[in-house]
Amino acid sequence: MPSLPVLVLNSGSSSIKFSGYEAVNGQRTKLFEGAVDGIGTDLGQFWIKDADGKKLVDQNPALPTRAVAFKLVADALHSGKFPMPVAIGHRMVCGGPTVQKNQLITPELIDEMERYTAFAPLHTPIAIYIMRESLHIFPGVPNFVCLDTYFHRTMPEVVTHMPIPDEYAAMGVRRYGYHGISYESIVHQLQPSVPGKLIVAHLGNGASITAIRNGQCLDTSMGLTPTGGLISGTRTGDIDPGVLLFILRKIAETTSDATAAADKLEVVASKKAGLLGVSGLSNDMRELREAIQAGNAKARLAVDKFTWTIAKWIGSFVAELGGLDMLVFTGGIGENDIASRAEICSGLGALGIVLDPARNNVRGPAIISAKDSPVTVRVIPPAEDLMIVNHVIRLLGE
Ligand code: ADP
Repeated sequence: MPSLPVLVLNSGSSSIKFSGYEAVNGQRTKLFEGAVDGIGTDLGQFWIKDADGKKLVDQNPALPTRAVAFKLVADALHSGKFPMPVAIGHRMVCGGPTVQKNQLITPELIDEMERYTAFAPLHTPIAIYIMRESLHIFPGVPNFVCLDTYFHRTMPEVVTHMPIPDEYAAMGVRRYGYHGISYESIVHQLQPSVPGKLIVAHLGNGASITAIRNGQCLDTSMGLTPTGGLISGTRTGDIDPGVLLFILRKIAETTSDATAAADKLEVVASKKAGLLGVSGLSNDMRELREAIQAGNAKARLAVDKFTWTIAKWIGSFVAELGGLDMLVFTGGIGENDIASRAEICSGLGALGIVLDPARNNVRGPAIISAKDSPVTVRVIPPAEDLMIVNHVIRLLGE
């Protein structure tokens, strides 16, 4: 079988990450990875590393627009230093109610997904832009969309349906769930012995948690948008809707433009809330832990709210799953913040979750539960790009 170079494009609200893999039969080998970060600033970062981690590009360009940022990526990929891809996989947070399967990207499909950018407004506009550009700069190369919502497609209607008037449900307002490619990659890594009753907590800047039965998603904390569910770096998570109405009315005292008021509310709920809002200091767990060490009570409260909320979700998911075999932590905080894992699990002994403090005292992949803990607790880093490559290879063969 020939080697198939596959390019993965993964955009965030202010960054574009990319990586190249070589696929031969079941083997996947990373060739390079890179990112442009800090879109919208005068001092961005642009780097590319080879498979051994050696920096091939390391620059600090001004990145006034996403177009400038993507041109840097496109020029590098066309420089002749990297193999031309036979296929490209795009990570897409949400394609809306009509685009729920990973599939070949056409201009019509992009138009359809663009109708629903309001469901993940920080993430989808840049992803849509990159898909259009990619079709243009790699003519004849098949581009595939890989959706974060895809893993959550197995959630039952009682979980996905929102308690709202039907006219809004008919517009596609429902629970979709996010971080799906990360969850899929954890299940993939646990194969062939995926536990029947599994909870995975993806704790990064954005945070969510998912209940998985026999390898399929049963429930997840994020809803219509990535702002729902757990409190995270800068997002409220689930909140009494009356709070949003209160803030909206306060904003309405200063503007009569309803769209401008909604935009301001979105900034409050998605960019100024969460760990940042409560601490008044930072959305970054490392900084919050340092502040706690220095006696900062607001940082303590913010982190307590975070760990308490996660423990509550774990409790409700154990009830939903009818028990628990394994709990997995992933994401930047899940992999590295030893204290968060200890604090989340400290009150969960009654559910059979018992950490071993010595085993938990690690960063990176490990089993961290006590030997006699009824529930196994593990740390597993996500492998999202690899998952996208697997989807692309499967779709290429269809
Ligand atoms: P994103 O959602 O942007 O991909 P990440 O998964 O990279 O985010 O997670 C970022 C979070 O992980 C930040 O809150 C950061 O402070 C936290 N983190 C990273 N490394 C450590 C560490 N060594 N100790 C504690 N927290 C860490």
